[in-house]
Amino acid sequence: MTTSITKTTSLRRNRPGTKLEDAYQFEHIPLEQFDSAFALQEYLQSLIRKDKENLDLLVELPPGQDEETWQYEHLRQLCLELNYLVVQLETECNRETCPEMKADEWMYLCAAHQTSMNCCAIDYIVHTLDGATTLLNSHRYFPSRISIPDTSLKHYQPISRRLYRIFAHAWFHHREIFESFENENMLYGRFLKLSDRYGLVAKNLLIIPNNYNNEDTDNNNVNDASLKIQEKT
Ligand SMILES: [Zn+2]
Ligand SMILES: [Zn+2]
Repeated sequence: MTTSITKTTSLRRNRPGTKLEDAYQFEHIPLEQFDSAFALQEYLQSLIRKDKENLDLLVELPPGQDEETWQYEHLRQLCLELNYLVVQLETECNRETCPEMKADEWMYLCAAHQTSMNCCAIDYIVHTLDGATTLLNSHRYFPSRISIPDTSLKHYQPISRRLYRIFAHAWFHHREIFESFENENMLYGRFLKLSDRYGLVAKNLLIIPNNYNNEDTDNNNVNDASLKIQEKT
């Protein structure tokens, strides 16, 4: 005898042969209807698919959730999506074009080693993203997706600060890639909104011109944001 599928999440799979443009086109459903250990992650991914430009809604704490877990899911998701930016950066960022990890007047040393090293930009970016992903997946620091140990919260800010530099390097040295990626994904916009909302990166460390995080630009569409970037440079 077959039993009917009752869990909503069981249905949220792409069928074999689904074309990419049709993939992940699930209907957005409320958080309480997700029924799995990864409910919050699935909810966040569903929100992003539904409207990645609605930054306020994306970072808004869902009712009944705690801020620490919500930030955790966002950071994990940022790492996942930053990998797609890195793939694009790799087409023009290499040891020859960018022998050091720089952005504006800043040069960054890679903290992914026993002692900080002067890795070239693309190595810095890959090492940093791998390091952040490993840390966020670490059972030692993050043993549960449901509650975050207080002692692990101290990792959010350093992770965010380092991830920010990936955006900053892309902005200052690979502007076309940055802009086309941002127009497509609004990932930097989301990162800034998240940082602003939860105090992840100190304002004085934000070196990319301030186009995305002004409250009065929230309702602008992507093209407007992109034009403002060009005006400022
Ligand atoms: Zn580069
Ligand atoms: Zn390194």
